Amino acid sequence: MLRVVFGGTFDPIHKGHVQTSLAAFAELGAEIMHVMPSALPPHRDYPGATAEQRLAMVDLAYSEVTQVIAEDWELRREGHSYSLLTLQEMRETWPNDSLVFLLGNDAFANLDSWFGWQQLLDYAHLAVMRRPAQTTPWTAAVQGLVEARQTTALTELHQQRSGAIYLLDTPDIAISATALRAALATGQSWREWVAPKVADYIEKHHLYGQL
Ligand code: ATP
Repeated sequence: MLRVVFGGTFDPIHKGHVQTSLAAFAELGAEIMHVMPSALPPHRDYPGATAEQRLAMVDLAYSEVTQVIAEDWELRREGHSYSLLTLQEMRETWPNDSLVFLLGNDAFANLDSWFGWQQLLDYAHLAVMRRPAQTTPWTAAVQGLVEARQTTALTELHQQRSGAIYLLDTPDIAISATALRAALATGQSWREWVAPKVADYIEKHHLYGQL
């Protein structure tokens, strides 16, 4: 069984997240995808919606896809949402499954700033999605990790439980939550960037400056 783990702030979840992650899910031939908002993002300021609201929007965004679970895993834990700790817990829960941690190239580019980054591959594979508008180069450490661990064989992700890096061929969708929040705050059009149910939720709960 191959499980995809997709973590993020999702403040809010947008079509860039949903369409690329579903393309990654298909490309990887995965069985389940856990989409998991982070509780206290270690790399950012406090988000605009509460953790519960971000989780509710994730649930709505994938409501048509039965293989996707909106996961409160990181919200249940006290303190920071370090991906390493979550992957360690997931590994204990599913000792025999392949775990694939999914992330965009912008996040991957400075993976070496993450807590315990050198151990991530002990618990999961990493699969990297293209991120067109964000072209931060990989750090030298990340470049070195790719040289050591990249595979182009999908079968390896299924046969080994962790340890490889796979660069995905996902579509380029130039949407970011930052740009979306800015559009919401300044009265520009924004609904087409999110799933209709997420747009309705944002309006109903007056999030991101909506009256
Ligand atoms: P922000 O603009 O607030 O930083 P974001 O849009 O990058 O937000 P996050 O919740 O920080 O969203 O991202 C979660 C994960 O999804 C990260 O791994 C990020 O790289 C990835 N991601 C976000 N948007 C896209 C996109 N348009 N295409 C591919 N990956 C994306």
